Amino acid sequence: MTEIRTRFAPSPSGFLHVGGARTALFNYLYAKAKGGKFILRIEDTDQDRSSDSSMQIIQDSLKWLGLNWDEGPEVGGDYGPYKQSERLEIYKKYTDQLVAENKAYRCFCTTEELEAMKKNSEAMGIPNIYDGRYANLTEKEIKEKLDKNIPFSIRFRTKPKQLIVEDLIQGKVKFDTKLIGDFIIVKSDGFPSYNYAVVIDDYLMKISHVIRGVGHLSNTPRQVIIHEAFDFPIPKYAHVSEIVGADGKKLSKRAGATSILAFRDLGYTEETFRNYMSLLGWSPEDGGEYIPTEKLNSIFDVERCSKSPSLFDVFKKQKEEDEKVSFIGISLSELADQLNPKSKLNWLSNKFIRDADIKDLTSRLIPFIRENTSIPEEIKRAENSELQAILNSIRVYLDRLSQAPDYIAEFYNNDISLENSEAEEILKLESAPKVISSFKKLIETESPNSSEDYKAIFDKVNKETNEKGKNLFMPIRVATTGKAHGLELPVLFNLLGKEKLIYRMKKILG
Ligand code: GLU
Repeated sequence: MTEIRTRFAPSPSGFLHVGGARTALFNYLYAKAKGGKFILRIEDTDQDRSSDSSMQIIQDSLKWLGLNWDEGPEVGGDYGPYKQSERLEIYKKYTDQLVAENKAYRCFCTTEELEAMKKNSEAMGIPNIYDGRYANLTEKEIKEKLDKNIPFSIRFRTKPKQLIVEDLIQGKVKFDTKLIGDFIIVKSDGFPSYNYAVVIDDYLMKISHVIRGVGHLSNTPRQVIIHEAFDFPIPKYAHVSEIVGADGKKLSKRAGATSILAFRDLGYTEETFRNYMSLLGWSPEDGGEYIPTEKLNSIFDVERCSKSPSLFDVFKKQKEEDEKVSFIGISLSELADQLNPKSKLNWLSNKFIRDADIKDLTSRLIPFIRENTSIPEEIKRAENSELQAILNSIRVYLDRLSQAPDYIAEFYNNDISLENSEAEEILKLESAPKVISSFKKLIETESPNSSEDYKAIFDKVNKETNEKGKNLFMPIRVATTGKAHGLELPVLFNLLGKEKLIYRMKKILG
């Protein structure tokens, strides 16, 4: 059996976003599950749009997700170079062969000629297919043009035929190559087109499976006919379904454009994000959605990928007018405000945080508290038992690790006072003295020691005072934190404990 070799082939022209990361993940998982190799190839032939910084971000994002490549930039491999701009000589050799065999030809079309052709087809309401005007020049005509240094591109000579692509996910897909026409494989600047370079590289890198977004399905016939022209074996294709947002529409500019690294900074762990992305278009046979890494790496199969669009529910449904504004450039806290609290990602993440080994979880927390000056320096270590205990007592309430620092900082905050006039006003509410004294009495007598116990105390305060909602919670919040807004009270109270709470109330209320 031939070795399974998959590849992720990003064009370095921006961040790695969800669509690209899901493609990378599926290729990685398929190779892992089948004992094959996962290759990273950088497709930077569009020199105007490619940048080194984008290449770096893409690589950093893949590394954060744990999608380490077996061959590619940094690690090398037998089939390099793995960056297309370093493979120009290779493409040239194959182009010379195609031209010599008359399977491709030089096209001397000027920009004006191409524009006119386009306008003409638009006017006639027909697809803009190249009319083959340079397809059959004589040797003499070609030589004359070359002698005059007239710029040219190379076009592939497309034979009209019905083509069937057998896709592992989409099934049999029919194409009529007449609608493709003779297309450019080498641009006039000497750089290969995407559809051309991809074929040479997939062949030379011995790629067995091409797994990518369904948006590339329309490119596939071009790639297949080039494979055929060279007599290269055709890889298996698997085009994964589109990802849609909460509104059922294609991922918006905002959600879809968010860099993968933003999810790291929001406090999701890489395992959780990988698990979440694996479910975008694939599902395990046993239906269990919370999948530990090792299991995921062994059970993934493209055969179980679905044709229907998959739902990316991480962000709230967006208002139409917001759609135009990009998430890029907004602060992390603004991005956090856009999160859908009930997303599957949060569910998986909370489960991961609950189940994790506490020392391991604490070490993952360190980057989120390192810069926080309200947290004592001496506890900022994974081995610190106090830090572990704090995290342990709040972890069931966390969807993201970045939610923890505020609780930890509040735990160490002894400098409690009324924050502002809004807080002062709350203490002047008619309900304030009643609820505060009822609360104080109850924590003294009942000695609560879980968040649930504190919730039960709120119910009792409600029964005793007949106050509810804002009139109940706000005075208690201000009396214990000095602030009008903030953390989840039962979680915070359980963390602080009875003694600290009483001490705080004395300080604030005098
Ligand atoms: N460079 C292409 C892209 O970024 C890769 C497409 C493919 O996987 O063939 O979309």
